[in-house]
Amino acid sequence: MEFFFILRLPTSKNQEYLDISKIIFIFAKKINMYSQAEENYLKTIYALEKDFSNEVSTNLIASKIKTKASSVTDMVKKLANKDLVVYKKYQGVYLTELGRLSALKVIRKHRLWECFLVQKLQFNWDEVHDIAEQLEHVKSELLINKLDAFLRYPKLDPHGDPIPDAHGRIILSKSMSISDMKIGSAGTFVGVKDSSATFLKYLNKKNLALGDKIRVIDIEPFDNSYHIETKTHRLVITSNIADNLCLKNVK
Ligand SMILES: [Zn+2]
Repeated sequence: MEFFFILRLPTSKNQEYLDISKIIFIFAKKINMYSQAEENYLKTIYALEKDFSNEVSTNLIASKIKTKASSVTDMVKKLANKDLVVYKKYQGVYLTELGRLSALKVIRKHRLWECFLVQKLQFNWDEVHDIAEQLEHVKSELLINKLDAFLRYPKLDPHGDPIPDAHGRIILSKSMSISDMKIGSAGTFVGVKDSSATFLKYLNKKNLALGDKIRVIDIEPFDNSYHIETKTHRLVITSNIADNLCLKNVK
């Protein structure tokens, strides 16, 4: 469980505490006020915090978003004014609780739309990310909650990533990159770090799909490429590819 908040605020005599659903509603109202660009920054900072450290440098954000560091600084200051991030010059940025919750709301929408596109409209897993990038900015909470129910509350998106619930709770399961595995070890392929169409198309071509059991049979010392095998075939992948494939229950 990544986080779970319960706030207890004294209110009137009749009602001693504001209940959690009201607080979520207040957050939800605030969260819906952000622009598309602001939401994309929150999502990017959330991802970078997870991959690197708690404080993310503006240069790192600039390289991820593919923009100038000066534009990042301007945006980050704007986000800080809205209490979404804490920005310290020369040190970096980190999300506040409100920023984190807002990022998770966008991620929830993105991943639910990806499920909808694959399950209900029969898109392939390599076709949905870019469409979900557009759909994730839909404002209606009601629509997203109904979509969640319609899909029967899926826990994972088509790329194996966990979907936050309506309260912003997310269950992160432990997985390991192939690049961290030893020769002879094996596990179940459960997710990708890169969900771009080009990477997923590569996996299609190589006949690798979520749920496959993968074993490392050798590592080439010269270029760190990996010889792997599934139930049906053997292949060699580069260390970059190995780094982007996540496995669970590695033994
Ligand atoms: Zn995606």
